[in-house]
Amino acid sequence: MSPTFVLPVMLEFRPRRMDWTAYDATIAGWRWEYRTGVDPYEVFSFWRRSKAPDNAVAVRLCSRSSQQYVFTTMSLRELPPRLAKLCGEPSREAAIPEWLKRESFPMLLARSPGKPAEESVDPYKMRDEFFDLKDDLDRLLVFVRKWGLWDTRELSICPEETLEPISRNGIPCILPHLIWRKQTEYRKVLCAAPERWLSQPEKRIHIVQKAQKPYFFANQRPFADPEICQNAIVATITLDHLTGSRFRICAKPGCNRLFKPVRRQKHCSRACAHAMAVQAYRDRAKKKVAKGKKRGR
Ligand SMILES: [Zn+2]
Repeated sequence: MSPTFVLPVMLEFRPRRMDWTAYDATIAGWRWEYRTGVDPYEVFSFWRRSKAPDNAVAVRLCSRSSQQYVFTTMSLRELPPRLAKLCGEPSREAAIPEWLKRESFPMLLARSPGKPAEESVDPYKMRDEFFDLKDDLDRLLVFVRKWGLWDTRELSICPEETLEPISRNGIPCILPHLIWRKQTEYRKVLCAAPERWLSQPEKRIHIVQKAQKPYFFANQRPFADPEICQNAIVATITLDHLTGSRFRICAKPGCNRLFKPVRRQKHCSRACAHAMAVQAYRDRAKKKVAKGKKRGR
């Protein structure tokens, strides 16, 4: 067998610092009930190069700091799962019930285009911070203000509408519920066997050789945008799988932290292992007491 080499590869990641703000989104009606009668999907279908999906709703976006609002269109697939399910129930001919329009979900919009970092930064640091987020919008805002663009998702609003200071289309946008879904997915794939992940062509990394140290630079796909967090995370997972790194999710319920296990280590930290040992001791003591009571009867 020929020897294998480990190449010192640097993953390129140049985050774009942006000012993200939270908005409250509510469903306003079906897509064709769009307030001004102009559906952004229709206006920008050419620009987006995609056809408007049949299952789409008009969504009202309200600024948290002012009373301003604008409308956009979202497909049911992009909605939080609960709302998507509820919207899938009424018939398309009937109006969306009023009670369904009261439930709001957060969306993050970029208020400025930002500037990409001049030098590449460590994507593993970003990934660690990403895995440490816990379904908390304020912490997510801190994360994206630091690391910039999550994906390439953009929002279009009707040309006549403006939401200060947003007055153009193609506004970078983040759907927090999709981020939480990705967090669970990425944790699982890091702990799973590498073959399935590595067999998907879109998960491959592209390595180029340059005359500067460390000589090998990697990106997700040949022309992948080095500013996007999601691309960087996918590339780190591919590299981890290629180099045989093994991960495990902490066994303490609710912890969910990833760690590289040493032998049969089950918990991410001493604190978690200790908490679980104390819990097990208490459970045993309770069982003993219960048994004693039964016997005493
Ligand atoms: Zn833990």
